[in-house]
Amino acid sequence: MRTSQQLRNEMVKRQIENRGVRDGRVLQTFRNMPRDEFVPEDAKAWAYDDCPIPIGYNQTISQPYIVAFMAEALELSSDERILEIGTGSGYNAAVLSKLCREVYTIEIIPELAKRAEEAIEKQDIKNAFVRQGDGSLGWPEEAPFDAIILTAAPPKEIPIPLVIQLKQGGRLIAPVGEETQELALYIKQGISLVPYHLMPVRFVPMIGKIAKQATL
Ligand code: SAH
Repeated sequence: MRTSQQLRNEMVKRQIENRGVRDGRVLQTFRNMPRDEFVPEDAKAWAYDDCPIPIGYNQTISQPYIVAFMAEALELSSDERILEIGTGSGYNAAVLSKLCREVYTIEIIPELAKRAEEAIEKQDIKNAFVRQGDGSLGWPEEAPFDAIILTAAPPKEIPIPLVIQLKQGGRLIAPVGEETQELALYIKQGISLVPYHLMPVRFVPMIGKIAKQATL
């Protein structure tokens, strides 16, 4: 029986490093963060597998490689204040909390927000803050943010409040699209976002106000 530390080391080597993630701080954070503490009891046995895992309410915790790839793409230097939309299990926020100064994360499903908050607290993380609400509105009281990460996909474009709440030169990473999605990195210049396409991905859709707008 391999220990969870061994499983994490293997996950980092095979799934993350082998696919090209090189940032040493990102790799070390993935070696340390117990992903099994963020998945439901009946999924703990495959917490370190190379895939997304259902966390209830039709939602999933993303594949480890994707979480690592996004974290690396944000090029964090440990001093940033970050906004995450789509807390889910809280794992991504917990990882980011080790790479930046503060993480503000919003989850629309109340039960998931509560569970994620508890999981984050259990890791004794003091610089990640969970709020239940519609993330497409951002977190204006704490804006502006140095970086923003979306882990649920808006159908067409980045919600305007998020563009407004990002600092000049700040990075925003998001999956965008409906059936097929593109993971893109955006850099804020003036009042707009300059996009850089990264790779095709599959995330859960963003729900709430933005989904309703898209069907109008
Ligand atoms: N980052 C998560 C995985 C996210 S799954 C993790 O580490 O586990 C995407 C999450 O986005 C789901 O939990 C979903 O409920 C949430 N979500 C969808 N639309 C949202 C919205 N408008 N505002 C906030 N959260 C949203």
